[in-house]
Amino acid sequence: MNILVTGGAGFIGSHLVDALIERGHSVFVYDNLSSGKTTNINPQATFIEGDITHEEVLHKLFTDYTFDAVFHLAAQINVRKSTEDPLFDAHTNILASLNLINMASKKGVQKIIFSSTGGVMYGDTSIRPTPETHNENPLSPYGIAKLTIDKYLAFYREATPLKTISLRYGNVYGPRQNPHGEAGVVAIFLNKMLGEEQPTINGDGMQSRDYIFVGDVVRANIAALETESASGIYNIGTGKETTVNEIFSLLNDFFDNSFQEIHAPSIPGEQKMSSLDSARAQDELTWQPTVSLRDGLKQTFEWFKK
Ligand code: NAD
Repeated sequence: MNILVTGGAGFIGSHLVDALIERGHSVFVYDNLSSGKTTNINPQATFIEGDITHEEVLHKLFTDYTFDAVFHLAAQINVRKSTEDPLFDAHTNILASLNLINMASKKGVQKIIFSSTGGVMYGDTSIRPTPETHNENPLSPYGIAKLTIDKYLAFYREATPLKTISLRYGNVYGPRQNPHGEAGVVAIFLNKMLGEEQPTINGDGMQSRDYIFVGDVVRANIAALETESASGIYNIGTGKETTVNEIFSLLNDFFDNSFQEIHAPSIPGEQKMSSLDSARAQDELTWQPTVSLRDGLKQTFEWFKK
């Protein structure tokens, strides 16, 4: 298949590109390199540098090439930035995404698979692990934009021949994650610890997340591509909750517990708890996570060490 991966120079996207190439697909990466890196891009992929907000460039891309499937990962991923500048966030994460979906639909793409979020989709809720049927309650413009695109994809699924799948990830971690962003506590802590710098935990560290290894997320994307019948929204998580304190402690083990647990003020409005019920993905995509947190952290540690 000819496959377009937007954001294919980034953390998750580049691993996905590797897996697609391994399966014999022709892969095109479209990325503006705002956080992605050319060194992440598989040399067998065709790289087109560009921004998803640039309509004419995107239009030319869809005129020059024919794609069977599109994975859409390019996004403004910073939740705090989305609250500071909701218009910028919406421009990229809503309008440009909608334009891409519309173009894919018009140009005869068969399937689009969207990287959505489960982590900030359902808000703080006592129903955990949280299934897709739970009310969405995103508290940030970033989450609102992801939900908006999930809903547009439902529209295209119903109204056009385009098959659409939204994958709502938990907190993805693994090799190649950018340690300089404000998200990605595993990458941030590891980067500091390897630089012999003391990491700090925001608030009491009891905030919990559903940490999912990038390799498992890639397998979910491949399952979404290969399914004949499944469509719609799928949570992609482990169903387990891990606190930031626990992440710190597991990582500290790799350093013979040489770091102290130091806390900084909490981030106002930060979600307290999150874990995802992925039973639907298990039933319909025959997908389930395979990498334990300990193994995933070890693989990530080894990569960051290099
Ligand atoms: P990332 O920053 O590593 O990847 C995003 C990629 O998109 C980067 O290569 C960046 O250069 C590119 N990009 C950003 N804006 C662009 C634009 N306007 N035009 C073209 N390219 C652009 O982040 P990631 O963690 O790999 O995230 C990939 C996707 O998965 C995003 O859509 C993100 O919202 C989603 N997601 C990630 C997580 C997570 O925990 N990492 C959780 C839920 C959802």
